[in-house]
Amino acid sequence: MHVKMVDRLANSEANSKRIGVVEGCFGAAGQPLVIPGRVLIGEGVLTKLCRKKPKARQFFLFNDILVYGNIVIQKKKYNKQHIIPLEGVTIDTVPDEGDLRNGWLIKTPTKSFAVYAATATEKSEWMNHIGKCVEDLLQKSGKAATGEHAAVWVPDSEATVCMRCQKVRFTPVSRRHHCRKCGFVVCGPCSDKKHLLPSQSSKPVRVCESCFLQLTAAGGGGGGPAAPRRSSDSYGRTGSKFHNLSDDDDEDDSSD
Ligand SMILES: [Zn+2]
Ligand SMILES: [Zn+2]
Repeated sequence: MHVKMVDRLANSEANSKRIGVVEGCFGAAGQPLVIPGRVLIGEGVLTKLCRKKPKARQFFLFNDILVYGNIVIQKKKYNKQHIIPLEGVTIDTVPDEGDLRNGWLIKTPTKSFAVYAATATEKSEWMNHIGKCVEDLLQKSGKAATGEHAAVWVPDSEATVCMRCQKVRFTPVSRRHHCRKCGFVVCGPCSDKKHLLPSQSSKPVRVCESCFLQLTAAGGGGGGPAAPRRSSDSYGRTGSKFHNLSDDDDEDDSSD
């Protein structure tokens, strides 16, 4: 794992060539990345804490977006491209814990997650550069930093029982769900309601009982409570771990 922080090469031929190479590595399924004024600031492999376990992902920091994807062939082929506009990003350091060291949170209105660098130096480089890019963007646009961020999901492995009722034990049948508001791992019955969280989705999303009450008490309007889910939802898919159709699926994990 290494990070290469290149000098700013705005508008230089070398810069657009480098961005073109990155674009090519994602192939036809990726978005076009070469646009005027875009600068590739740095790149490297970071460990992203996904729903099931930490996974290596290739990250590219541009002056306006953060791009990451799954590594098919290192430096040659990436897929599952994600593009995060930096304007809505906030970063927060994460204290070292066990094997998970040199981490920080990348928080955005739609999705928030933790990433880990190989060394403390890499971590501070990444954090400094991301922070600087966000600051520059906000200064240029005159906008204020985003206030609202999606919850960071608690990894599945950290909850053997429902974090709300503390009673339901998770099994292949009694499956884990994530509240989109607080990020807790909860059981079906504790999260059988949906609520509109406009920054995350245009459709109502799964929330836990406690967040639902908070949202309906505070919101008044705000889209209002969604129709209750079919009661069969949590139980009607026994054996579905083989074709994981749960709406909780982290798309990053779909290659598993
Ligand atoms: Zn529960
Ligand atoms: Zn919740």
